[in-house]
Amino acid sequence: MAKKIAAPQQPRKPGSSPTAPVLAKVKAGKRNIDIDVRFIVDFLTQLLKTPSPTGYTTQAQHFVRETLTNLKLDTRFNTKGGLIATWQGRSATRPRALTAHVDTLGAMVKEIDPLNGRLHLSRLGGFAWNSVEGESCSVITANEIIYRGTILPHKASVHIHSGPEVERAERSDQTMEVRLDAKVRSGLEVRQLGIDVGDFIAFDPRVEVTDTGFIRSRHLDDKASVACIAGACAALLDAGLRPAQRTTILISHFEEVGHGASTGIPADVKEVLAVDMAAVGPGQNSDEFSVGICVKDSGGPYSLEMRQQLVQLCQSADIPYKLDIYPYYGSDVGPMWRSGADVIAGLIGPGVDASHHYERTHIDSLVATVRLIIEYMLA
Ligand SMILES: [Zn+2]
Repeated sequence: MAKKIAAPQQPRKPGSSPTAPVLAKVKAGKRNIDIDVRFIVDFLTQLLKTPSPTGYTTQAQHFVRETLTNLKLDTRFNTKGGLIATWQGRSATRPRALTAHVDTLGAMVKEIDPLNGRLHLSRLGGFAWNSVEGESCSVITANEIIYRGTILPHKASVHIHSGPEVERAERSDQTMEVRLDAKVRSGLEVRQLGIDVGDFIAFDPRVEVTDTGFIRSRHLDDKASVACIAGACAALLDAGLRPAQRTTILISHFEEVGHGASTGIPADVKEVLAVDMAAVGPGQNSDEFSVGICVKDSGGPYSLEMRQQLVQLCQSADIPYKLDIYPYYGSDVGPMWRSGADVIAGLIGPGVDASHHYERTHIDSLVATVRLIIEYMLA
């Protein structure tokens, strides 16, 4: 059901906008609702550029709150810092919730090498060191001063170490380090900059929106889904519509470390739809041009009745979708269920290639996800 990939376009003329193809509004199926693709891509780009490794998400949460407040939703933070937005529906007989997470992969300073001042890191979230090798990063100190640097293996230069030595050296917490762009020669000099153990490390997202409609960036997981929820709310508001049921939107901020939506879902909610990336890659059914509906991840199956409803909504509105199983994956739903929530739950989201690496999705996938969220909210 995936849409065809657009034919390669002519090289862009100098001065023309790299985001030109995404300026258009698209219609959400038979309902004739306009989806403002430009709003979604602009919001997503800004959110991607706002660093939010797990544990350091306040700025990103405030940015999302501002957007949802502008969309006329009632917003608040709970004690833990989760963002909770409420949209009163036409009814509250079976209240619902949508969740997505704003936290991303990242790291913390674990150790400052006393001899050379290089920083050793402790990872936030599950990623392989090779996926960030050579990436630029920001070190955010306790006083919110930002130092720039690069994540490198200890043996990086092939002019100093033999090629095979560089190639085969294990990438681990012990061998990967941050080279600071500061004139420092020792751990003491690094500490004198105000850098200390526990400082957050944010990887550069390197956002690029291509002429062909792809969005390449780190942290599309799960900021692409936050953007899809905002895009769906904007489209409904524009059309003068509101959800069928009272709908709570939880933007969680500890998902990458495993306790995303364990709190923040109102007690009377009966259905939870998590919006998180669909895993695209070898052996997977998901792609970058449709909405993924997850039937099972590492935590087991999602609610069958939710899956059936979601498939039926896609079919009746002609939304391209892919059912899939994500083998090494958890969402906001697992921690929510394990903490005792008595709800049915499903998972949908845009297809993301090379997740937890330098990721990529396509605008078609965002639009399909927005359309399914709209159908679900109105159903
Ligand atoms: Zn995620």
